[in-house]
Amino acid sequence: MSDAAAPARGFADGRRLANGSGDASVAAMLEFSTAAVAYCVFVGAVFLGLWIYYDRRDHRRFEAERRKTTFHCIRCDAIYPAAQGTQVCRCPKCGHENVRLRF
Ligand SMILES: [Zn+2]
Repeated sequence: MSDAAAPARGFADGRRLANGSGDASVAAMLEFSTAAVAYCVFVGAVFLGLWIYYDRRDHRRFEAERRKTTFHCIRCDAIYPAAQGTQVCRCPKCGHENVRLRF
């Protein structure tokens, strides 16, 4: 049995399947391909995880910086912001302690 007699059993470029003389190299090539795909998926997953982690961290920082609670000083009439969630804050001008504005 020659290569030309059974072209349908091999690959298009002449490599043969299991019972040919090239079965060891084909099996090694398939193992290498599986390992390469697994490695690429692993690297992709690592970069995706890093991307999601840093994106969420930056978003949290940005939101904490952006969202403020507004205070109005009843002594000196100043309006000033403080971090979100603060209920009582001291006025930066006169030092009077005010509760947050409620709308
Ligand atoms: Zn004040």
